Amino acid sequence: MIYDIMIIGSGMAGMTAALYAKRNNKSVLLIEKESIGGQIASSPKVENYPTIPAMSGMDLSAKVFEQIEDYVEFDLDTVVSLVKEDGVFIAKTEYGTEHRALSVIIANGVKHRKLNLPNEEKFLGNGISFCAVCDGAFYKGEDVLLIGDANTALQYALLLSDLCKSVRVCTLFDKFFADEIYVNALKNRENVTVVHNLASINYLGDDVLTGVEFKNTQTGEIVRYDCKGVFVAIGQIPDNKAFANLADLDKMGYFIADETCRTRTEGLFVAGDTRTKSYRQLTTAAADGANAALAACDYILKLKK
Ligand SMILES: Cc1cc2nc3c(=O)[nH]c(=O)nc-3n(C[C@H](O)[C@H](O)[C@H](O)COP(=O)(O)OP(=O)(O)OC[C@H]3O[C@@H](n4cnc5c(N)ncnc54)[C@H](O)[C@@H]3O)c2cc1C
Repeated sequence: MIYDIMIIGSGMAGMTAALYAKRNNKSVLLIEKESIGGQIASSPKVENYPTIPAMSGMDLSAKVFEQIEDYVEFDLDTVVSLVKEDGVFIAKTEYGTEHRALSVIIANGVKHRKLNLPNEEKFLGNGISFCAVCDGAFYKGEDVLLIGDANTALQYALLLSDLCKSVRVCTLFDKFFADEIYVNALKNRENVTVVHNLASINYLGDDVLTGVEFKNTQTGEIVRYDCKGVFVAIGQIPDNKAFANLADLDKMGYFIADETCRTRTEGLFVAGDTRTKSYRQLTTAAADGANAALAACDYILKLKK
């Protein structure tokens, strides 16, 4: 089967694109490598999405999915390559499936930035987590570390302080880069301690993570903090190299595209956090999804004339 539109990624951008494509009566395949909702599913609370005063990111994702699930084909797999041959896009997946479509919207978002320390891969999912919403409950009553200094990090620290015995928040610089509301809320938590000016240098432990080693950037002192789990919230980075054969990337690795979401390959669009833009938010991702889908519909219309 050749779909009208194939969408890679089911975050806010991808799901909104699917919604618009279906409203235009197009056949749609949505491919997702992990779980519905993308990044926002790991947010404890969203308060800046129009019409929704406050809701968990997981519930918000489920609500958007409800709007598309009956109309869209879905494949849970990772797209590993994409080519265009004789006007048709062919995506190959990790499990060896080939999907074909006249037009493609890449809405693959960003991935978690890692600390890139020795032992990191070994402890991923086994002591190291990037998502307090998903994994916080595994550390109920335990001592945990939180590495990061911005909104997500502080939201996570607050959530963890409700669950864990203690939360030590470690930042690289001498201050937070988060909204005041989170910084103030953290100050009132008795089981939270904050240590600034720490560069992470090593994860400790043999089979199981037992702690993290840091260097104090001001004094040069090496400090080790014991913990059962460490939550790393130091931002995100793009992951677009697999598609660079068809679309240009900037120095950071984001797709170069404006609000039209067009790329240098006709029929290929990019939407959401994955592209160059000033603000990466749910609303801007949704806007991109709508723009990309409508542009893809125009492209198909011309193609079928
Ligand atoms: C903890 C946290 C809290 C946040 N809070 C807010 C907030 O309160 N308000 C707000 O506006 N924004 C918030 N944001 C930012 C917001 O979540 C993002 O801007 C938005 O979700 C981006 O959506 P997206 O669809 O572009 O990408 P993503 O949400 O990253 O979705 C991309 C999807 O593509 C999938 N994917 C990637 N590669 C492949 C592949 N090769 N094959 C198949 N699937 C693939 C991924 O698994 C993922 O599901 C928050 C972000 C985080 C991390």
